Parts: sequence; C-alpha cells; structure tokens
Amino acid sequence: MLNLPVLVLNLNYEPINVCNVRRALLLIFKGKAEFLLSGKGQVHSVRKVFDLPSVIRLVHLVKRPFGKRKLSKKEVLLRDRHTCQYCGVKSKNLTMDHVIPRFQSGELTWENVVTACMPCNHRKAGRTPEQAAMRLLKRPKPPYPSPYYVLYGRVIFDEWRKFIFWTID
Ligand SMILES: [Zn+2]
Repeated sequence: MLNLPVLVLNLNYEPINVCNVRRALLLIFKGKAEFLLSGKGQVHSVRKVFDLPSVIRLVHLVKRPFGKRKLSKKEVLLRDRHTCQYCGVKSKNLTMDHVIPRFQSGELTWENVVTACMPCNHRKAGRTPEQAAMRLLKRPKPPYPSPYYVLYGRVIFDEWRKFIFWTID
C-alpha cells in the first residue's frame, strides 16, 4: 500500500512528479505538501485512521528544470515510452541499444540510442539496423520537453485525470 503511486502537483496544480504513498505522507507530515485527494484506502495508526493520498500538492512553487535531459537508460526508456523501437513491443525487460554499434564508432547520443526489447537486441547484435535488416519505428531525437514528461509510461489513475489537461499516450 505504501508503495502505491501518488501524483504530486506543484503549487500551481501542474503535475510535477509521481512519488509513492510513503513519501507523500512524509511530505504532508513535514508540512511540505497538502493532501488533495484520496483514493487508495486507509491506514490505521494507534488512534487514527488516515485516508491514503492519491494526489498531493506542494505548498511551495517548485521551478521545473525543462532544459536538456541527461542521457541515461532510464531517460531513453521514458522517451521511447517503454516501447521497443524495432518491434513496438511494450515490456518491462528493455535494453538500451546503440543504433550504430559502439565498435562501429556509434556514439552515446540521443540520436544514436533507442529502447530495444531483449529479442530485438539479440537479433540486431553488433550490426546497424541496415545490416540487420531491422527498421526503427522512428528516428531517435532528444526528448521534447513536456510538463507531463513525468507521467509517460505510467499508470494514470482516474482521480488524477482532472489535473491532466493534455492527452498522454
Ligand atoms: Zn523488439
């Protein structure tokens, strides 16, 4: 229960992060956030019953770093929406693939790394997509800064939707 996701809104109600219930309760108890919506049941302490938060709102406005994102496997998976860029499968078991392999002087750049599932990664091995006759779904690019970036690839709970005005696929 304490690991369930909680939507964190900025002071201006913009989605800023997703944390777990444990962290959300901590932010509330420390006075750093307010409880906005419940939806995940209750916890019992010695004397009280608490509703578990599903949406909390920070009491201070946090400036969001919308600049360049640092390249990492996690960020590449986020950019590619946890989808293999060769076969389109969504999987929990994904790898980061160098489009042009490292030993063929492929660089570690946003334009040269994509998310790949294990079977595609094995099939492609140390070859370029052309050499392996595998097509990329789309050309890899640096991620577009979006306020909803934190929500990509996540389960969106119904009670969160009223705070999300754009569509997320
Ligand atoms: Zn694949």
